Amino acid sequence: MAKDFLKGAADRYDVVVIGSGLAGLTGANLLARQGHKVLLLEHHYQLGGMATWFKRAGGHIFDISLHGFPVGMKKSCRKYWSKEIADRIVQLEHIRFENPQFSLRTTFDREDFTNHLVETFGVPRETVQAFFDRARSMNFYDDQHLTTRELFEEFFPGRSDVVRLLMEPITYANGSTLDDPAITYGIVFSNFMHKGVFTFRGGTDELVKLMKKELLANGVDLRIRCEVEQIETNDDGQVTGVVVNGRRIGCDAVLSNANLKSTVLKLVGEDRLDPDFAAEAKAVRLNNSSAQVYMALKPGEGFDPDLGDLLFHSEHSGFDAEAMLSKDVSSRTFSFYYPQTRPGSDRWLIVSSTNANYEDWAGLSDEQYEADKAELAETTLQCLEQNYIPDVRAKLDHIEVSTPRTFEHYTKHQLGASFGTKFEGLKVSEELPQQVPGLWHAGSVGIIMSGWLGAVNYGVIVGSKVDEFLANRTATA
Ligand SMILES: Cc1cc2nc3c(=O)[nH]c(=O)nc-3n(C[C@H](O)[C@H](O)[C@H](O)COP(=O)(O)OP(=O)(O)OC[C@H]3O[C@@H](n4cnc5c(N)ncnc54)[C@H](O)[C@@H]3O)c2cc1C
Repeated sequence: MAKDFLKGAADRYDVVVIGSGLAGLTGANLLARQGHKVLLLEHHYQLGGMATWFKRAGGHIFDISLHGFPVGMKKSCRKYWSKEIADRIVQLEHIRFENPQFSLRTTFDREDFTNHLVETFGVPRETVQAFFDRARSMNFYDDQHLTTRELFEEFFPGRSDVVRLLMEPITYANGSTLDDPAITYGIVFSNFMHKGVFTFRGGTDELVKLMKKELLANGVDLRIRCEVEQIETNDDGQVTGVVVNGRRIGCDAVLSNANLKSTVLKLVGEDRLDPDFAAEAKAVRLNNSSAQVYMALKPGEGFDPDLGDLLFHSEHSGFDAEAMLSKDVSSRTFSFYYPQTRPGSDRWLIVSSTNANYEDWAGLSDEQYEADKAELAETTLQCLEQNYIPDVRAKLDHIEVSTPRTFEHYTKHQLGASFGTKFEGLKVSEELPQQVPGLWHAGSVGIIMSGWLGAVNYGVIVGSKVDEFLANRTATA
């Protein structure tokens, strides 16, 4: 008989959290700390969503999305998780750019970027200061019509090299393009420029282990391999429960961390929504997906630490978000993982990431899919051996490729979207509780609520709203 992953689960909870991405985990932890009875349901066999890892023979552990996040993660983790987690967040100091327009190294913070822009790129210091101040002052309530392209044109007209320096890492970090609202750029870029790029020492597996420990200590009922099929509502449209693995579980509130469009259009369904809202949800554009090549060196083998931590490599003549998505890869971001990533380990690993279009990978025959993955692995090795690690093939122990299909499979994100939705998704996410009382969404949306920091912070914001709803319910009763 199939294992019952809901064995022992109660028939009713205060709140059910659907999905264990960083927003779902954080929302669940906040609600449990407030004393609510929380059930967290995750369809995959491990917690973390895109914040995940996998193990391979020989003791290799690959991180999928541990490339870098802003320092704000430290404060959010200290406040909403634990000091133990926050204390392991450390800076990555060696960021590199190698492309036909420039070659430079940076600590990726305001001071260092200012020096580069003034001394290497010859931009007047006052212009750089004004640009940073403008980006820093941007917030959600600003003009949403100004595009990032227009912002750059205002400060750095005709300077495609400057645009590349300022934009390429952000396109990798959240899939945004020059045509997205400038506020999304300003907020995310300023978060990074505050103090640089940070990582979690110990690896994603250690982070999720510590989060799981905290959730259990706070009384969250955690269930893996539990796929929610439906969010149930009563005749008034109010949330009353969920159907998961064929079983109904009652609750007063649901916090969905599943893909926004799946939450609204599948788990609730169009027939239970105001037609205008359903149309708005349908029109939300998903962000792009990714392809990655994971490479592990033989135990004890390494590479020159001078390579840095994060390397934005491109052979393309200028910054071009479309080219960065192309299956004909001309730009790659290399993350170099040293043994200190997991203290005590002797492993050196490399992950090459490229942004990708789902359609380029979705319709392939099994044979073509395997052939295309092998080609991506091969061209990535060629790039490394020609430019950075000449003897990489001799040192290699394991190589493997993931595609948009992989991300879709493990996280159920439509089109394998790596970074949630475009900007308009935020409004739909925020208005959901007015449409379906008792239902909230927290997860990568709107570019600014994406990435590790965005997801954690959105989990806090939305978790607090659910807490308020549950507290009012108790007071009324
Ligand atoms: C290749 C790649 C590299 C990245 N690199 C970085 C980086 O360096 N820095 C950074 O800050 N961010 C990075 N990101 C983005 C970051 O990982 C994500 O934005 C963030 O982790 C998403 O968190 P989330 O809360 O939105 O949920 P997600 O991680 O999207 O998780 C949603 C969860 O819901 C579950 N779920 C969905 N439907 C159901 C259902 N019906 N029932 C039960 N469970 C369900 C899924 O299985 C999943 O676990 C990267 C992403 C990718 C793909």
